[in-house]
Amino acid sequence: MTYGCGREGQAAPVSRRNLLGLLAAGALLVGCSQNEQTGRSQFAVVPDEALTQMADQAWADMRAQTPAGVDPAAQARLEKIGWKIVEASGRTDLAWEFVVFDRPEINAFVLPNGKVGAFKGLMDFVQDDDELAGVLGHEVGHVLARHSSERVSQQMAIEVGVNVVQAILANGEYAEHAGEIAGALGMGAMYGVILPYSRNHELEADKVGVELAQRAGMDPAGAVRFFERMAAEGEKRPQPPEVLSTHPADGPRLAALREAVAALPKG
Ligand SMILES: [Zn+2]
Repeated sequence: MTYGCGREGQAAPVSRRNLLGLLAAGALLVGCSQNEQTGRSQFAVVPDEALTQMADQAWADMRAQTPAGVDPAAQARLEKIGWKIVEASGRTDLAWEFVVFDRPEINAFVLPNGKVGAFKGLMDFVQDDDELAGVLGHEVGHVLARHSSERVSQQMAIEVGVNVVQAILANGEYAEHAGEIAGALGMGAMYGVILPYSRNHELEADKVGVELAQRAGMDPAGAVRFFERMAAEGEKRPQPPEVLSTHPADGPRLAALREAVAALPKG
């Protein structure tokens, strides 16, 4: 079940009871806002400060639990390409940080506070900087499109109930409710903030990602090559690589990604 803003064919099934509650709270109207990056209307009511608090906690947990710093060359490369993408995005106001974690999975994640983790397995898998730019463009794309805020807002509305949403909207008292939100989301803070994204979010991040890669002076087709190789890798292994479970690289997604690259302005 998801909450939505009822536009652009975004599926937004809500139970009658919750829908009535939301309407009574005015949240459905108040909570919807237009995203600058995507132009899409979003139900994203969790204040950025609350999201940042949760993400800071998640990042601290991740840093404490997972070794990093074993591959200085990979770390330097991640930072170099990461900053190119961030500068192209115009969101230099966030406290961006790029860390290579010493884990074998081929995966990467981003938190809404601008913290980006790439696993050593991913750094070994990417063939060139353009592929890495494709991955990082996608991750930064999630932040620009405010996907975490949207996802956490939806989860919260479903699991905590409209009274909390209402309180937050009315008073901005997110700090008081941060515990409830976190509890309702069942976090292990980290997993609450980096839950798999929905398919729509994946497609949207892909689209923003290739734009960012191009603006950063990288080859936007790097993302296509990366996800094609990931899909091939997935067929070879008994267990698909981790990145495919959170970023499924199936035929329709690859087709959409190729289309997004083809639609970029030339030159
Ligand atoms: Zn993603």
